[in-house]
Amino acid sequence: MGNKVYKEYSRRFEGKTVIITGGASGIGKATAAKLARQGAGVVVVDLREDAARAVVEEIVAAGGIALPFAADVTDPKANADAVAFAEKEFGALHLAFNNAGIGGPQGLLADIDIEGYRKVIEVNLNAVFYGMHAQIPAILRAGGGAIVNTASILGLVGEATAVGYVAAKHGVTGLTKAAALGYANKGIRINSVHPGYIDTPLLSNMNEAARQHLVSQHAQGRFGTSEEVADAVAFLLSDRASFVSGSQFVVDGGYTTH
Ligand code: NAP
Repeated sequence: MGNKVYKEYSRRFEGKTVIITGGASGIGKATAAKLARQGAGVVVVDLREDAARAVVEEIVAAGGIALPFAADVTDPKANADAVAFAEKEFGALHLAFNNAGIGGPQGLLADIDIEGYRKVIEVNLNAVFYGMHAQIPAILRAGGGAIVNTASILGLVGEATAVGYVAAKHGVTGLTKAAALGYANKGIRINSVHPGYIDTPLLSNMNEAARQHLVSQHAQGRFGTSEEVADAVAFLLSDRASFVSGSQFVVDGGYTTH
């Protein structure tokens, strides 16, 4: 019995297809590897074809199933093309993880560059809308499924010098709630995940003083790992989360607790 449960858990995405944006790096890459290990067919969507292909090669070498799809998620047509690709190659789309993102300009509101602000809203917020706009009809065609959108702790609380990022991530929180309400009784669960600071290439330009300050803001006294976020995303996408819809799932080592 225990063995049967373990087996179900370990291959819980067998027969499911998932689109993962920003799948070539950090949180997206860790989630792609995890879902593939648990049986999913993964479409790794990212800006650079070579980076997406490298992740796919690692997944395939480990016995998983994955295909790369190069796309800029700020292009609505590219999102539609990714969905058409998933349906053509795998037969159906059941799951999506809208996760691609950038850091955006740093500074107090009046000091930040307007183009930089527009860009972070386009990548971190509008692209999540474009993604779901293309994915939802396909997931309905497949008979239902689940979506997770990557927000952030900065989709729940503010940060004075990350104005555009905070605005975009709060937008993702709201967009996720509205979409979740619209499709909860149509067989699609939609949730947002809210990581604290996670050791990924996104933080590679951070200086040591800023890093130490931010580490101290996490009750656990450290940054998280991509695998720790991937575990939460896998749960939210799985049937184990069958009564979880429209939630803000926080993975932040206690950052937002105080
Ligand atoms: P990452 O390692 O930089 O990965 C992000 C990936 O998204 C990169 O491969 C990047 O490609 C890709 N990407 C960027 N813009 C894109 C676009 N327009 N179209 C397609 N792909 C694009 O960052 P990460 O830390 O894993 O971040 C993943 C998500 O988690 C983001 O939404 C981020 O805001 C969120 N998040 C991160 C943290 C953190 O502390 N790391 C905390 C909370 C939330 P390039 O490398 O070629 O640009």
